[in-house]
Amino acid sequence: MTSSTIPGAEAPGTELPGSTLEAVPEGDVVWYTARQLHEALAGRVLTRSDFRVPRYATVSLAGQQVTEAVARGKHLLIRTSGGLSIHTHLKMDGFWRVRPAGTPLGESYKVRLLLVNEDQQAAGYLLGVTEVLPTPEEHRATGHLGPDLLGPDWDAAEAVRRLSQREERPIGEALLDQRNLAGIGTWFLAEMLFLRGIDPSRPVGSIADLDALVNLGQRLLNANKARIGHTSTGDTRRGQESWVYGRAGRACRRCRTPIRRGEQGPAGQERLRFWCPNCQR
Ligand SMILES: [Zn+2]
Repeated sequence: MTSSTIPGAEAPGTELPGSTLEAVPEGDVVWYTARQLHEALAGRVLTRSDFRVPRYATVSLAGQQVTEAVARGKHLLIRTSGGLSIHTHLKMDGFWRVRPAGTPLGESYKVRLLLVNEDQQAAGYLLGVTEVLPTPEEHRATGHLGPDLLGPDWDAAEAVRRLSQREERPIGEALLDQRNLAGIGTWFLAEMLFLRGIDPSRPVGSIADLDALVNLGQRLLNANKARIGHTSTGDTRRGQESWVYGRAGRACRRCRTPIRRGEQGPAGQERLRFWCPNCQR
């Protein structure tokens, strides 16, 4: 690998010109990011680390070998031979850039973490979370998460069980709760509900086949994990990637009804939703 920019908020197709959509990185983006970091860092000794967050400013991981980088839902863990795990989360705006070691950092004021080995450097920009913890204590960072849609231990039945614990909750809210299942953000939420014909405000308990819904989510994330950007239509051209996400006011691709946009969720934590009022009931 020579160089790559790994998008979070930069992911193409998640934002339309002139709009103010949130474009929170979803599970597929984090999975792809972890893979790129794994390729650049795993099996190699760090020659330098630079934590640009006050709490870890004096921590140095130089001399430690990175053993692996893995995604867990939307969280990212970079583990070292010294028994430490660097836990990061992209949140709203974060992204990583992997470049040959020694490449000048662009926008260095945005860098929160720099990891360097003899050949490569990985810079984490605008990370929402940056912390170091002993690897056996990773559960403190990720133990609350439900089954990981892109994890080796994906368990649809367990995700359905967790979702079903609060039957009155709107499905558009429940699927974003990472304690139920981990990896879905507003983009995949909108698309999977459209494809199953489900209105996002429907209570969880009214949905007959939750199993099919979560498995569709898993297939969608899985199909998107190895590339930059998302598509649910099979078309990766800009403006063609989604059925409903980012298409408020435009004609539904199936029935021509204008797509609607709204917010949903507890006060202060409202998240965007897009749906077709005709196709989704
Ligand atoms: Zn429609």
